[in-house]
This record gives sequence, C-alpha cells and structure tokens, in this order.
Amino acid sequence: MAHINSNYLNIKESYLFSEVAKRANAYKAEHPEADVIRLGIGDVTRPLCPTVIDALHEGVDAMAATETFKGYGPEQGYDFIKESLKAYYAEKGVDLDKDEIFISDGAKSDLGNILDIFSKDNLVLVPDPVYPVYVDTNTMDGREIAYLEANEANGFLPMPNYDIKADLIYLCSPNNPTGAVYNREQLAEWVKYANDNNSVIFFDAAYECFVSDPSLPRSIYEIEGAKTCAIEFCSFSKTAGFTGTRCGYTVVPFDLIRDDCVVNKFWLRRQTTKFNGVSYITQKGAAAVFTEEGKKQIAENIDYYKQNAKTITETLDRLGIWYCGGKHSPYIWFKCPDNMGSWEFFDALLEKANVVGTPGEGFGENGKGYFRLTSFSTHENTIEAMKRFEKAFSK
Ligand code: PLP
Repeated sequence: MAHINSNYLNIKESYLFSEVAKRANAYKAEHPEADVIRLGIGDVTRPLCPTVIDALHEGVDAMAATETFKGYGPEQGYDFIKESLKAYYAEKGVDLDKDEIFISDGAKSDLGNILDIFSKDNLVLVPDPVYPVYVDTNTMDGREIAYLEANEANGFLPMPNYDIKADLIYLCSPNNPTGAVYNREQLAEWVKYANDNNSVIFFDAAYECFVSDPSLPRSIYEIEGAKTCAIEFCSFSKTAGFTGTRCGYTVVPFDLIRDDCVVNKFWLRRQTTKFNGVSYITQKGAAAVFTEEGKKQIAENIDYYKQNAKTITETLDRLGIWYCGGKHSPYIWFKCPDNMGSWEFFDALLEKANVVGTPGEGFGENGKGYFRLTSFSTHENTIEAMKRFEKAFSK
C-alpha cells in the first residue's frame, strides 16, 4: 500500500485570498453599482519593458533556425545571464563567482526546493508575520518551527535571540507583508548569530529593487561574514514584472560549509538531478533587464509603483495611522484604525470606501489588528481609493 506524506495533513488551509475574493464578490453582487478598487494583490500590473520584449523576440527567433536553436541548456543557467548577475552584484560591492549563481524559474520554487539538501531535524526560525511559503514548505517536511515575534515594538524587524538555537533562519527584507527593511547593523547581528551557531540564513531578497536608500543593504552579502552562513533568493518577478514569465536566481556561496560539505555542490547536484533549467527564451528576456536601456525602463516601472506607495503613506500620515513599509517596498502595513480586527477592518473598508486590501492576520498571529495595502495598482485607482479611505476614516 502506498502511504502519503502525512505532514501534508498538518498544513493550514490558506483561506486568506479565497476569503478576500469571496467577501469582495459578495459585496459586488449586492451592490452592482459599486466601483470596487483592489489594493490587495501582490502581483505586478505594468507590462514587461520594451527591451525585455525585444530580447524575448530574439530568443524566439533563435529557436527557429538550426544554427541558433537551443535544446537542453545548463541546469544552473546560461553563462550570459550569470555574468550579468555577477556584474549586478558587483554594483552592490558584492564579488560572486558565476558558479555561485543558479538561475531558477522564480524565488518561490527554490525557497521550497532548497530544503531538499537540509536535514529534516533542523530547527527552523520563521518571522511572524511573513510570506506563508516558509512555514508551509517546512511543515510539508515535518520540521519543527519556532517563530520570531515581529511587532510594532521592534518595527516588525525581529532580532536574534541567543536562547533559541535555530538551524535554518528565514529573513525577508524588504519584507512581505510588512515592507520593513533591515539596516546593515541589524543584518550584521543576524550574520553573527548564524556564524556563531553554524546556522544557515535563507535571505529572501525578492523586493530588493525597491530599496532606494544606498545605506540599506539589498543583498545579505553586503554584510561581512554572510558568505559563510547565508543563501540568497531573488527574482525578476517584482524587479522586472516577471511574475507570469517566471525567472529568478539563488546564490549559494562556495564558502558556505556545513557538516564538512560544500553546500553549493549539494545544491548543484540537486538541481542537475531534479531541474532542467529555465527556458533559453526566458533567460534572454531576463538578461536584457541588466542592459543600460533595460535598467532605465525597469526603474521607471518601479518608480510608478513607488508613487502609488507615496499616495498611500501620505494618506496614512494625514490620518495619524501607524504604519511601516511603503518607502523601500511595494507593501504598506498599518494598524487598523479604532483598534479594529483585521477582518473587521476589511469589511469596514469595503463597505465605506469600496476598497479591498489584505487582512494582516493572514500572514501570522502577529498580523492580527494590522492590514496590508499594495502599490501595484494604477495611479488613478490608488488616488481614488485613498481619497475614499481618508473620507471614511478621518475623525
Ligand atoms: N518571496 C516573497 C517574499 C514574495 O512575496 C514572493 C511573491 O510574492 C516570492 C518570494 C515569489 O517570487 P517568484 O515570483 O519569483 O516565485
């Protein structure tokens, strides 16, 4: 008899986005005239930039001729994109070997897949609230999870506690859902903790492109000592609008050694066994992000979202509502007015302003009483939504 992985029985059902959709659709059915604006989604809306589109077309054309056709490529990615990424890291002052970089079909896959090369008896440390994938992937493997309390008192940036001896630590900066960003000193404390305890940090940098203050780190490798304790996950999804096109990258430094094994070699072995690489066409498109023209064009899109974030934070400032994020992140995380619960505020915002957001408790216990808005809508909708928000919740 075949047995299933019974750990799957322990995964919490994710009601968050289905419940959001259910409540929003029910409201719309009852009030067909209502112009409901959605500021809850974590997906981009701006199209791929022209330079990327041209490169994708070139990739397609290459597939049409015998001389340029590509079959299976290197599982860890083509050299042309790894060299572009090496140069991108060099701009941040980080020197990588191209074989420390692995091209993936997105950060989500590798964040889950990396667990293949780590033992199931590792103690995992996960911030609360956070991107739910970290908890669910470890629950699937049956690992024990301890939570890092993120709250208003620590600015939703929890710091190491030496009483907890964690083996695998997830850090997400800029954070989803809170938009909070670790500074250099804070990350240095995490790097020290991880090196002291022989832990490994999984650093999720999916939103690094939103960091515009040069004093804030965009990669954990900007911190001395990180190469001996951290794996970094990043993505073209939010940087260049690849949520539907799919491309990301994972950095596993040669200096990261655990149980006398070079982790990079384990990851290479895992990838060459279970992954056949990202399509040549997609990698051509992604590499174009790092051309001068590509960089300019993606910056315009990121700026577009940042202006929306400013519209949202300025409204919260005027209303005197506590928030974090929105400056170096597409997410704005705020305390629900009048001490409302997350879902209570969801309903109030929908009824009074016809605006849909995401209740904070969907991201963990510490999200109770908080709410997430995103800047991924249009200028027009964001301005209109925040006008209505201000009218509905001003004292
Ligand atoms: N990491 C974080 C924190 C995210 O919020 C997301 C997507 O929303 C991802 C990773 C997934 O990125 P990708 O589209 O590259 O799989």
